[in-house]
Amino acid sequence: MKIRTRLTFLFSGITAAILLLLVTAIYISYAREREDDYYKNLRQQAITKANLLFDAGIDPHVLQLIYRNSSSTLSQEEVAIYDTDLHLLYHDAVDIDKVKETPGMLEKIKQQKEIVFKQDQLQVVGFTYSHQNKTYLITAVAEDEYGLARLRNLGYILAFSYLIAVLCIIIVARFFAKKALKPVSDMVDRVEEITATNLDLRLPEGNGTDEMAELAITFNQMLDRLEQSFDAQKQFVSNISHELRTPLTAMMAELEISASRERTTAEYLQSMHHAISDARQLVKLSNSLLDLAKASYDPAEINFKPMRLDELLMEARDEVLKAFPFYRINVNFEEPQEEEDYLSVEGNAYLLKVAFVNLMENGCKFSASHEMGVVVTWFKEYTILRFIDDGVGISKQDLPNIFTPFYRGGNGQYADGNGIGLSLAARIVKLHKGTISVVSKVGQGTTFTVELTHV
Ligand code: ADP
Repeated sequence: MKIRTRLTFLFSGITAAILLLLVTAIYISYAREREDDYYKNLRQQAITKANLLFDAGIDPHVLQLIYRNSSSTLSQEEVAIYDTDLHLLYHDAVDIDKVKETPGMLEKIKQQKEIVFKQDQLQVVGFTYSHQNKTYLITAVAEDEYGLARLRNLGYILAFSYLIAVLCIIIVARFFAKKALKPVSDMVDRVEEITATNLDLRLPEGNGTDEMAELAITFNQMLDRLEQSFDAQKQFVSNISHELRTPLTAMMAELEISASRERTTAEYLQSMHHAISDARQLVKLSNSLLDLAKASYDPAEINFKPMRLDELLMEARDEVLKAFPFYRINVNFEEPQEEEDYLSVEGNAYLLKVAFVNLMENGCKFSASHEMGVVVTWFKEYTILRFIDDGVGISKQDLPNIFTPFYRGGNGQYADGNGIGLSLAARIVKLHKGTISVVSKVGQGTTFTVELTHV
């Protein structure tokens, strides 16, 4: 069931129930008041009749005649008077006798002084009446035809008004539910328009203050993030294809030229070396991409274990030197630590080594001397690793971008690369809840500072 229909039902249901209570309360209180008034009225009429008999000395036959000739005997009160020995002294019409006065009933009147009760529509009142030191028991019976007719009328009017009111409430509730939920249906319409090709569309934010606006704003913020990551993905894919195309095109050109005619063995060897170098570049790129994908996993999926940083640094150094034997990397530990804990971090050895290898390789490849140093400072809570070189340095314009995937600085022509290394290192450090920062001066050198906590 739609919220709109549910709201309509709920609102109309509650209001209709309250209205029903109100209408019923009005009806019941009117009915009671009419009944009480009529009992009083009956009593008064009976006393008047008794006074006519006792004081005015009216002949009982006259009163009986009046009673019998009244237009409606039902609404005409029928009075009976008894003495305290329960002897009947007067009766309006013994033969009609709407309610039979039993001895039990008369006894009850004697004891309780006054009783009232209903028999079908007839109302009966019985009471004791003192006159000239004598006590009488008087009963009066009649039907409040006029009052009951008015009560019935009131019932009809209330029922009719109630139905009309409920109908109006349903219409109004439907209208307001529709109006209140209009922003939601507008949102649904707009969201249906949003696809991968028009992620720039946004929801209307209305007045910017109510809950609907909050929802729209939150949704728009989510779309902003989605659009950004979508653009980043697109950029990433186009960068990858570009990076793959360059060595592949070079390799193909090289091989096509050598295949175009017969060559000497030396020429074949040379073109094979070129092709191998291009293939190596491709392998390095695909490995870097694989590592980048691993570093982008959810941290919960990555295996973290305690490990010694000093050992990891040495392994990274060995790996770089194996690939580039002419590089020189000096690792210095400031103040040797007795505390074993100071040397360990909770991390993923493979990824951390990838980060260190990249930082070491960069330091060496962007220095004319192909030499760099790593200085490690231990603290109780964390360790600071500084990767220092005195190479070409990074320009001020390049500095803010060097951690962006595929970004290569203006000094890129100085050494081969694909622009992934630093972004990968930064992602790995972030994954370990650490920080990475850079200070560089063109022509003087660069220092990358990595801070890692021990746990
Ligand atoms: P790559 O080294 O493959 O170009 P990186 O992501 O490792 O890619 O580095 C991005 C850019 O940052 C490099 O192209 C270079 O301009 C700059 N850079 C990184 N490390 C250094 C360094 N030690 N000295 C000078 N420039 C550096």
